[in-house]
Amino acid sequence: MTRDDARALDAVDPLAPFRARFALPADLIYLDGNSLGPLPHAARAAVADATARQWGDRLIRGWNEGWMDAPTRIGAKLAPLLGATAPEVIAGGSTSANLFRLLVAALRHDPARRVIVSETGNFPTDLHIAAGAAGCVPGASVRAVPRDRVMAALGPDTAVLLLTHVHYRTAERWDMVALTAAAHAAGAPVLWDLSHSTGAVPLDLTAAGADLAVGCGYKYLNGGPGAPAILYVAARWQERLSNPLSGWMGHAEPFGFADDYAPAPGMRRWLTGTPSVLGLAALEAALDAWADVPLAALWAKGAALFDILAAAGDRAGLECVTPRDPARRGSHISFRHPHALALSQALIAAGVIGDFRGPDLLRLGLTPLYLTHEQVWRAGEILLEVLAGEPWRDPRFTARPAVT
Ligand SMILES: *Cc1c(COP(=O)(O)O)cnc(C)c1O
Repeated sequence: MTRDDARALDAVDPLAPFRARFALPADLIYLDGNSLGPLPHAARAAVADATARQWGDRLIRGWNEGWMDAPTRIGAKLAPLLGATAPEVIAGGSTSANLFRLLVAALRHDPARRVIVSETGNFPTDLHIAAGAAGCVPGASVRAVPRDRVMAALGPDTAVLLLTHVHYRTAERWDMVALTAAAHAAGAPVLWDLSHSTGAVPLDLTAAGADLAVGCGYKYLNGGPGAPAILYVAARWQERLSNPLSGWMGHAEPFGFADDYAPAPGMRRWLTGTPSVLGLAALEAALDAWADVPLAALWAKGAALFDILAAAGDRAGLECVTPRDPARRGSHISFRHPHALALSQALIAAGVIGDFRGPDLLRLGLTPLYLTHEQVWRAGEILLEVLAGEPWRDPRFTARPAVT
């Protein structure tokens, strides 16, 4: 591919107009939207309105003028990206906290089943939270096994299978239909972590027969740093599970001020305390920027961007740990390199922001909503230059910052 080839693809790209929705420095090639999505202009305006007008002028009246319904209203906007129905999704909490709530609920649902099955090398918070959740339920434990042994680890003691759909390091994607069916055959529900999937790959929780899911608001969805997260419970589970963090906002009548807890019907029971209105305002505006995105074109462009960087990696002789088959991966590409940290930092200095996942992966996120083919082609050229000229050997690139 040449620069002209990439420009020709941009000229006919149906997603090209969407880039203007985001605040992106002109000279930057941002390949980290899988870790923190950029600022949608609409989110800046929504936060300004939520502070100056709603908070500043409406004060407490804001709760009856849209704040109270924000978690379920935003859930309805998330549903199409998940392949779920509106009454199955709510926005709030963090991915970690939502994992905890759903894992404890699943463990308590069937006292004969005590084991959370998961994958070694899963995203750390998933395993840490699983251990914490198991610690709260007598007799419960976590069985984390390597990827190829997950199916065999399922059995009559499985309370829930906890999997991250797209792996944060390799971008490897589980077959959601097959793994959900395997868990169901063992009599257990599946909890899918969709942090690297939502807005990155097609999802159809309904068709897969999925049970429970969580996901991240600040990655591909661009909801802002620490944005409220996703919580999904399939309709058939909703009256059977209870939120262990049973707070007043999940009560059937929060302003009835009763001593005894009675869960709200549907997804509102997964609320705990007062929702974070400013965070929800940013997330809602970010989701509105997704409403008219042609999703089939988005997935196709993601695959094309991947191929451009994969080709650059091949020319450099880099080991690509991400599957080539678009159906078996997410929307980032990871290369193995013994000096991946220094390489990542030298790329940042050259205007290409990706990230490093220890010990040896350079991870580059591909977000078709606002990246051009030419930018990704240019990133590939810069990668080749940095590998050839070895500026990454400069000691200033080898020091490890707190966030990589
Ligand atoms: C990013 C990510 C999280 C983040 O959890 P937080 O509670 O938002 O910090 C969780 N799980 C996976 C798989 C992730 O990729």
